[in-house]
Amino acid sequence: MNGFYGRLLKINLSTGKYTIECPDEALYRKYLGGKGLAAYLLNELNPAGVDPLAPENNLIFATGPVGGTRIWGSCRYGVFTKSPQTGFYCESYAGGKVPEAIDATGFDAIILQGKSRQPTVLEIQPDGVYFHDGRPFWGMDTYAAEDALNEHFGGKGAGFRRSGAVVIGPAAENGVCFGVIENDYWRSAGRTGPGTVMGAKQVKGIVFKGDRTRPLADADGLKAFARSFHAEAKDHPSVGAYKEMGTPMLVKINNAAAAFPTRYWAEGVCDHWEKISAEALHARCDVTPRACLKCFMACGRLSTVKEGRHAGLKIEGPEYETIYAFGGLCLVDSIEEIAYLNDICDRLGMDTITAGNLCAFAVEASLRGKIGEAYAYGDVDAFADLLGKIARREGIGDILARGIRHAARKWDLEDIAVHVKGLEPAGYFHHALKGMGLAYATSDRGACHLRATFYKPELSGMISPGQIEGKAEMFIEFEDRLTIFDTFILCRFYRDLYLWDQLKTIIRLTTGLDYAEAEMKARARDVSDLIRRFNLREGLTAADDRLPGGFYQATGLDNPLTPEELEIMLAEYYRLRGWDASGKPPE
Ligand code: SF4
Repeated sequence: MNGFYGRLLKINLSTGKYTIECPDEALYRKYLGGKGLAAYLLNELNPAGVDPLAPENNLIFATGPVGGTRIWGSCRYGVFTKSPQTGFYCESYAGGKVPEAIDATGFDAIILQGKSRQPTVLEIQPDGVYFHDGRPFWGMDTYAAEDALNEHFGGKGAGFRRSGAVVIGPAAENGVCFGVIENDYWRSAGRTGPGTVMGAKQVKGIVFKGDRTRPLADADGLKAFARSFHAEAKDHPSVGAYKEMGTPMLVKINNAAAAFPTRYWAEGVCDHWEKISAEALHARCDVTPRACLKCFMACGRLSTVKEGRHAGLKIEGPEYETIYAFGGLCLVDSIEEIAYLNDICDRLGMDTITAGNLCAFAVEASLRGKIGEAYAYGDVDAFADLLGKIARREGIGDILARGIRHAARKWDLEDIAVHVKGLEPAGYFHHALKGMGLAYATSDRGACHLRATFYKPELSGMISPGQIEGKAEMFIEFEDRLTIFDTFILCRFYRDLYLWDQLKTIIRLTTGLDYAEAEMKARARDVSDLIRRFNLREGLTAADDRLPGGFYQATGLDNPLTPEELEIMLAEYYRLRGWDASGKPPE
């Protein structure tokens, strides 16, 4: 079928063998690629109730029908598994340059099954898999590992157009439940612990090499569409904003809206925001905008610290979410110090949002006398030390490495812990942006900001942030459209540019499917229902769609989100999704 390779690669790490399978075309028509295809495979292949770190948990890399094409925002891959952090569905996406190499291997999905007997590096080519001894690389930080794997197994030789590696760091090797998969040094499939599952399988990294291109329904039409899209979209205000300031622009915007989570979720305004803003980043560091392949938005910031104890430190970032986690929640008031903590997390291969949340949580535990260690807000060196302890699972680090739910139980702090389904939220204060409360409550992977990116309509005036009734309708509209983004695997920062009409065109030009908007929404809902059934099978109940007490701990706010307001939004959300009162989709 056009738009797809029609091939799945199944790698059995226990036996060191692999198979290439060709699924029925009907599967692609129903679930498209990326998220839809991978969710279907995960549902089919994972035994119910499997331990996320057991060999039987499948780890799936997927591409979508825009992969490797000229479509803007298409250089991305997704990873799907059962999360060791939440115990539910896990998905995470990353950009950079390496996704083109993954795509060029010519598989719609690559499924890692079983567990290797010893550390392993996989080399995947269009015709199959080579298994390499991974022991020399085990223990390396992510930057060193990526360099080493590219040097030993990469290169574009033997006629391959594309080559690149994804790796895990020491945190994932040691079973820290929020380990990431990294590529291009700083691009991470970062949330809900896919790297930890890769580590449990003893796979240090995967080198992808290939020269395949997917068959397209209308290659000339696609080329013309990409050209005219660029001409029309390149001057859109959202493009200019991302290019000029990157995601750190949100520090100023969210702080002005009292939506910048601060002091471990106690406040929505940060006094030192100007020291950690996009403007501060550009003033204190040498910054060059940096783009994934096939992108004219260039939201990345390649930053080099100019002065001080971290002078010379080079990083792509910090992104807004890392600034919020360390600058807001932990009250670190220097952009260079945030870059330093970001660098530590990246090298160790840990999700920065979770890491920042846990550091702030440790401060609260310390201030409340729940732990013997002394942690204070803003103490960068103590946080740096703690991150190392988490990665090595030493002392208090071992408690935090098991995730917020475990630490909260252990320290009797469940009343203040801020998470949903075990995942800590991103940097949007739900009291100021009430739709983000609904987003955190209902996202299939825990307290996620990305499934609907609902901060966008709330911050931009498309809908009042304080509105409760009638909010779920727009929320679902965003969620469904971005589900289609994820089945294609498109960068969601193109969400203002690819509306339903453009998505219809893209699917027609790539696959030949002439889906109307209603049909695409039906496909999105099929995917949402499928993942919901997966989560229900893994033990999710409607109680998991609530915001725990820690979300309501802030005091002195005007018009805060209340549990009753969440109930209203939730009931509306279930009803519009076609789910029953307990959150079950129809059979
Ligand atoms: S907008 Fe940013 S994340 Fe998205 S494709 Fe461009 S550089 Fe990559």
